[in-house]
Amino acid sequence: MAFPKPLLWSFIVLLSILFNTKISDTLYANSHIIQNVQTTRKVVALTIDDGPHYKTTPTILQTLKEKQVRATFFVLGVNIETSPGLLSKEIADGHEIGNHGYSHTPLTSMTKENIEQEVKKTENLISAVTTKPVLFRPPGGAYNAKTAIILQNLGYSIVMWNIDPHDWARPSVDEVVNRVLTNVKPGSIILMHDGQYPLPTAEAIALIVDKLRDQGYEFVTVSDLLKYREILSGRSFTSIEL
Ligand SMILES: [Zn+2]
Repeated sequence: MAFPKPLLWSFIVLLSILFNTKISDTLYANSHIIQNVQTTRKVVALTIDDGPHYKTTPTILQTLKEKQVRATFFVLGVNIETSPGLLSKEIADGHEIGNHGYSHTPLTSMTKENIEQEVKKTENLISAVTTKPVLFRPPGGAYNAKTAIILQNLGYSIVMWNIDPHDWARPSVDEVVNRVLTNVKPGSIILMHDGQYPLPTAEAIALIVDKLRDQGYEFVTVSDLLKYREILSGRSFTSIEL
């Protein structure tokens, strides 16, 4: 069947525009995602997701205080509402606060308006007691180009991780410790949790801190970790940056 030439060309142009937009969105999104930091310095960041939780968080805060470690807590809005005092305690102890959304629903299944609501609700709860958060950890680690661009427009960098010891699944303390020690490298971002009870996390953190300090590692917040990034071969910080 003959296809009118002008129409065919319009169709091709339209396809190429759509295709290019999609590619550039993906490139743009991937360039704003932090998985770990490229550095030769022995620095790592502990990140703790899903709290605050009235039983688990105080134990972790106590451990961090004893070990004099500053961590980054990615908090859920719904849990801030339940335990507002614990968010204040995290801040008072010098920890960094990041946004983990309101309800822990994956953002990839939401409309733009719903994503903005999830982010803003938690942002407002955090901003009521400290500065506006600039780091976002997607619930379930789920993101795509669309969510990444929306988050970027709201002033956030997406922080993923490169070490996941699965503490949320309640393995033994030793398993959590070993998974971290086996995979750690300078610039690592370690994923931990405080959103349920019981968890092996507090006990594991105490051992991880001692053992990594023995190896010469320092513990810093995610924002501080970013300051250690080194430009290698013209590229900057994340292992998945384009
Ligand atoms: Zn989570």
